[in-house]
Amino acid sequence: MAAVPNLDAHTGFPGLYIHVPFCISKCPYCGFYSITDLSLIRKYLSALRLEMGLVKNQTQAFDTVYIGGGTPSVLSPRQIEEVLYSIRDSFRIAGHAEATIEMNPADTTSNLLRAVWRGGINRLSIGVQSFNDAVLSFLGRRHRSAEAIAAIEAGRKAGFDNLSIDLIYGIPGQDTRSWLETLKQAVALKPDHLSCYELTVENPTPFGRDVRTGHIVLPDETVKTTLFFRTAEFLEKHGYRQYEVSNFARPGRESRHNQKYWEHVPYLGLGPSAHSFSGYERRWNVRSVHSYIEQLECGILPLEGREMLDLEEIRTETLFLGLRTTNGIPLGDFRSRFGSDLLKEKRGIIDFLAANGFLTIQDGALRPTRKGLAVADSLALAL
Ligand code: SF4
Repeated sequence: MAAVPNLDAHTGFPGLYIHVPFCISKCPYCGFYSITDLSLIRKYLSALRLEMGLVKNQTQAFDTVYIGGGTPSVLSPRQIEEVLYSIRDSFRIAGHAEATIEMNPADTTSNLLRAVWRGGINRLSIGVQSFNDAVLSFLGRRHRSAEAIAAIEAGRKAGFDNLSIDLIYGIPGQDTRSWLETLKQAVALKPDHLSCYELTVENPTPFGRDVRTGHIVLPDETVKTTLFFRTAEFLEKHGYRQYEVSNFARPGRESRHNQKYWEHVPYLGLGPSAHSFSGYERRWNVRSVHSYIEQLECGILPLEGREMLDLEEIRTETLFLGLRTTNGIPLGDFRSRFGSDLLKEKRGIIDFLAANGFLTIQDGALRPTRKGLAVADSLALAL
């Protein structure tokens, strides 16, 4: 049996991620791992409990829990309660933990909301994607705008005061006016947090094929860049700060769990295809639900791969991840972690990027401006 990831060697609270790999139907653009054979749910849940049993010897408490997918809300209220009970039975969860579950608006019933609330979930992430029914139909989503609005209102009624919605822009044929209509409807519902993702089409998906054959034409870079800037300007005007390329929050409502990914804080991922990070080692589970179940039924951790990151790799990732966030790269931390003075070593390129409005140095950190966030990966490459 492979060794259990040890998250205890690090200071600070790690995060816990649970992957629920089921969807009722596959959206034609989606490259995430999930299957539509819901008959495997019961065996998956038993395997998940076995996996928790094998890795539960963490002495450190988790201060974020994130149940994502797939579509966690395909589980019944009772099944979700079981998962939440098993988490609390197997791990120490800090009293102030942020606990999020992703929900599809079509599944957001008052029964399910009551179950997740009772189980200790205090943050909802609702996959709205659009308030335009034609866009939702194009994206192959199961819900329509009215259900998304009802889901958000039901979440509030159930007591959730930390609510996030996901939206997608850059749909073929979408202009700024129609995207702003979706954003206007979004802010009218007063979510605490918004994730606005550009439509990305993975190769082995129906949309990937349609793009290759020319049946779908994605917006060009100019249109996508305009949408990116208009999104940030509009949301800022309504009280949401862009704190990562695709993420916006009211003050204090940033996703604590996702910040761990961007700041290289350790996390433990459970479920098929879930990734874990110990601070220097990354490991990931098998993708196939069948293999995941079979291996756990034999008492084996369902690991597919692992890699040790050396200091240079962690340094490169720190640049890529940090420059996607408005916190940027704290220069003192960077120096003490990597023994490298970015300002001295990269003075020329940093001055050039700052003079052209991509970077600033503020409060001892190298931070991307909004213009810099629009090309964050290129900034990291330049450094
Ligand atoms: S986008 Fe979400 S709901 Fe659609 S297939 Fe992917 S994981 Fe499932």
